[in-house]
Amino acid sequence: LSIGVAILGSTGSIGTSALRVLDRHRDEFHVVALAAHRNADALAAQVATWNPALAVLVDEAVPAAEGMRSGRAALIEAATHPDAQIIINAVVGSAGLEATLAALAAGKRLALANKESLVAGGPLVLEALRQGGGELVPVDSEHSAILQCLCAHGDADSAAGIVGASAKRLILTASGGPFRGWDKARMSQVTPEQALRHPTWDMGAKITIDSATLANKALEVIEAHFLFGVGYDEIEVAVHPQSIVHSMVELADGSVLAQMGFPTMELPILYALTHPRRLPDNGTRHFDPVSVGTMTVEALDRDCFGAFRLGVAAGRAAGTAPAVFNAANEEAVAGFLRGAIPFAGIADTIGYALDSIDTGPVDSLESVLDADRSARALAVRRMRE
Ligand code: NDP
Ligand code: MG
Repeated sequence: LSIGVAILGSTGSIGTSALRVLDRHRDEFHVVALAAHRNADALAAQVATWNPALAVLVDEAVPAAEGMRSGRAALIEAATHPDAQIIINAVVGSAGLEATLAALAAGKRLALANKESLVAGGPLVLEALRQGGGELVPVDSEHSAILQCLCAHGDADSAAGIVGASAKRLILTASGGPFRGWDKARMSQVTPEQALRHPTWDMGAKITIDSATLANKALEVIEAHFLFGVGYDEIEVAVHPQSIVHSMVELADGSVLAQMGFPTMELPILYALTHPRRLPDNGTRHFDPVSVGTMTVEALDRDCFGAFRLGVAAGRAAGTAPAVFNAANEEAVAGFLRGAIPFAGIADTIGYALDSIDTGPVDSLESVLDADRSARALAVRRMRE
């Protein structure tokens, strides 16, 4: 029986990669719903190919084509569509939070690329997972690697948080981004064009900038904390410029497992669909260890990457601090891309927001949305100074 899949953020980098994966497995899966923000033409082309029951353009200001729905409520309908068993959330930013919560509350398998929703609303997401009885499976390559290591080790329980119990330590790898090895002075001068040139991954603009500031790796540390239930002292980051080892797990006896491959998001996307099973697939580049040649690992220069430091500190502070970190970062990245602030201004803006807001517990969606809104307002004010 074919499994119904909904893709939120179908027109983006992850969304289009997911459709390439689904195209190779049309016997196993069919597309039930597609949702984008405002790219009506790209969505219309996908609708023509996939003929989903529901197509959504979230931005109501953009005229939607015949048969398409508009608005945030329609995004939630896509996230909870009765014919979809798997929801791929590939929206960018905390704008994906309500859809994450709705999909889990409806008992779906959530294939989560939208790490910002887990970072901003971690406790709410875990509560929705518990109450809805769905599954939370990461698409992020590092977290997919960790899940795959844990499942290879024999704990094949479905919800990611359950398998995490057997891990003693997680080692997330980071490519180091385009400015690895640069000193602070040189890095402060970089342009958006330079920051958008990632050495190993081809991704959407926001996460590409996050990979240059290493804010992305802080988001991933927080993501790992919530997904696998591992404390911050047991989550490490190692810079591995070749992006072949996607992450590592240390087990109770000190043995370390790693998951490897050439960088492609298609494999973690496929695994999020099939976990804990494996589906035969030969759509990605055949792994050739000899062509990899040398693999290296080095320490992360925390001094140079202030956004990373601030993000991990926000994770440790818990409550609404990660939501503040995430929202300030989203605004700062947008500000950097439109030329309003220099590269170093991203960490400055995040630090200003975190210093200026009294964070509190995450006890409702409203508490997260309030923190998110306040952080954005402060970030925008700081960038005007
Ligand atoms: P893109 O910018 O390429 O795509 C974002 C998608 O989300 C687009 O379809 C966009 O629609 C849609 N979108 C944007 N804003 C909204 C909104 N407010 N409501 C609904 N839909 C919206 O991003 P990526 O694909 O690179 O990243 C998506 C997520 O996956 C991010 O959270 C990122 O951190 C994560 N991720 C990405 C990886 C990658 O390789 N790209 C790797 C690991 C994680 P439209 O086209 O209409 O604007
Ligand atoms: Mg990642």
